[in-house]
Amino acid sequence: MTKRVYIANTGGTIGMKKTANGYAPAPGHLAERMAQISTLTSPPMPKYDVHEYDPLLDSANMTPKDWLKIAQDIADRYDDYDGFVVLHGTDTMAYTASALSFMLEGLRKPVILTGSQIPLCEARNDARENLITAMIVAAEYPIPEVCLYFGDKLMRGCRTVKVNANSFDAFDSPNFPPLGKVGINIELNWGAIRPLPSLSTSLTINPLNGSRISAFRLFPGISAEIVRHVLRPPLKGLVLEAYGVGNGPDHDQDFLAALKEATQRGVIIVDCTQCFSGRVDLNDYATGNALAAAGVISGYDLTVEAALAKLFYLFSQDLPSETVKSLMQTDLRGELTRP
Ligand code: ASP
Repeated sequence: MTKRVYIANTGGTIGMKKTANGYAPAPGHLAERMAQISTLTSPPMPKYDVHEYDPLLDSANMTPKDWLKIAQDIADRYDDYDGFVVLHGTDTMAYTASALSFMLEGLRKPVILTGSQIPLCEARNDARENLITAMIVAAEYPIPEVCLYFGDKLMRGCRTVKVNANSFDAFDSPNFPPLGKVGINIELNWGAIRPLPSLSTSLTINPLNGSRISAFRLFPGISAEIVRHVLRPPLKGLVLEAYGVGNGPDHDQDFLAALKEATQRGVIIVDCTQCFSGRVDLNDYATGNALAAAGVISGYDLTVEAALAKLFYLFSQDLPSETVKSLMQTDLRGELTRP
């Protein structure tokens, strides 16, 4: 039977048009361009429907409301298609991929986010390959995950980071192996792909509400006063981007006091590393232990994108603070590896 793929076009470079002010979203433009690619309608391509969002967004404008729109869109068409492709701007694609991983619970079909660095309308582009491969993967491979396909890698969505502003190889999954590599063949790493939930599992959407969370990057010379400011109510959760294995300046008692005052008020502070890859271990150094003593919890190998999405998700569940803390440190969707 011919496979069917649903394409949600949310915007992004892939479907943009050249204007006097640079590339900008243009309604109808992507569908026009796709109609000119005859390959898209012959085997091995699946049948597809494109739904263009209104407005089409540069992903710099995405908010959790847009994530919900995408999740709802997929859920509404879930039974009618074999897989789903979400066309998205690259700038915040890793955030959306992380958020959708938490929002779409009990997923049994592939949801593949992709986009491009050069739009489909340009002669030389990465859009065509990303689009075609994402469509084939969504149609042919029963991967029960939210994934991101870009360059030549299929990655778990909640493990991705945008790593290059200019290269076609714009995304990476620094702390988890790719779910697939695409060259002459599409080679999937089935050992890394999550197991299919039981047939009786139905798809549930977990909406995210606009929780009061933030991220903050440590740097030498950081002022405790600024940290105290960031941690003021109504903040509920903070991703603290700390040094190396999660260290911070333990000689600065005022800084540590600011953290402690906040955690004692119930603010959840999750320590993630500023390093591109690797994991937090607050027991390694006195400078990490001091943060733990101030009530900061380890985010292990969570990306900052996944940590923020997970905080949004958990705070939207109306859970006691201790449960949020414990679930932040529990692997829910393959986003985290505990030692
Ligand atoms: N600014 C664009 C966006 O994120 C960049 C891109 O799509 O590559 O929508």
